[in-house]
Amino acid sequence: MLGFMVIPILDELVALSLKLGDPLADLAILAEGNASAKADDEHFYVKASGYSMRNIGAEGFSKVLFAPILEALNGPDLTDVAVRELLSSSRADPDFYPRPSVETFMHAYLLQLPGVNFIGHTHPTPLISLLSVEGCKEIAAMRLFPDEIVCCGPATAFVPYTDPGLPLARAIKASVEEFALKYEMAPKTIWLQNHGLIAVGKSASDVESATFMAIKAARAWLGALTSGRKLNPLTEENVNRIHTRPDEHYRQELLWAMQRA
Ligand SMILES: [Zn+2]
Repeated sequence: MLGFMVIPILDELVALSLKLGDPLADLAILAEGNASAKADDEHFYVKASGYSMRNIGAEGFSKVLFAPILEALNGPDLTDVAVRELLSSSRADPDFYPRPSVETFMHAYLLQLPGVNFIGHTHPTPLISLLSVEGCKEIAAMRLFPDEIVCCGPATAFVPYTDPGLPLARAIKASVEEFALKYEMAPKTIWLQNHGLIAVGKSASDVESATFMAIKAARAWLGALTSGRKLNPLTEENVNRIHTRPDEHYRQELLWAMQRA
C-alpha cells in the first residue's frame, strides 16, 4: 500500500496547480485546466479527472505510465469507452491512483520532449478573447515586447480548434513538430484556438512565468487591436537578437524525441 509520502516533484506540481487555480488569477475555474510533471523516464504525474486546481492536493494527481499512452497517440482511433479503459489501466497502481484527466495524452507527448519536466494548461479569459479573434494564428507567430520572447519563446505554437482528448493531443503533436522544424526547439507556449493555453517548462517556475507572461501578452494584443492604430510588433531581427538558439546537442535530442513519439 502506497502512502502519501512527500515526493518533491509532486509537491512542486501541487504548488504550481494551486497558483494556476487561484480564482484571483482568472486562469481556471471549476474543473478547468490541468497540470503534469515527469516523475521518471517511465512515469508522469497528471491531474485526475474532476478535481479543481483551486484547492487540489497530492490526492488529486494520478501517476501514469508513458508507454501505453504514447502508443495510443500513434495508434488507431479509439472509442470514448476504450479511452476511459486505457486511462484507467495506464495508472502506475490502479488501486491507489484516481483516473487521470482525458488530456493525459497531450501531457505524455509534451513531457517526453527533451528538457521538459512540467506542463500547465489553463483557460485564461484574456487569452480566450484573443483566441476567438480571426487571424489569431498569425498573432501567435508575432511578439510585442522583449520579456515575451524570454518567457514564451520566439513564437507560440498554434493549434486550430479540436475535440478534447486524443484528437487534441494529435493536433498538438502536429503543431509542435511543425514548430520544431522552423525554430529548432520545442515551443514554450502553445495556443489552442477557442480554448486556452499550454505552458511547457523545465521547471514549475518556467511554466508559471510562461503562463503569466502569455496572459500579459494577450492583454497587450487586445489593447493594440482595439486602439484603431496600425500594429507595430517586434521585427524578426529584434526577436532574433533576444532569442538564443538552442545548441546542436539539444537539436539532436529533439529530433530523437520526435521520432520516438
Ligand atoms: Zn482545456
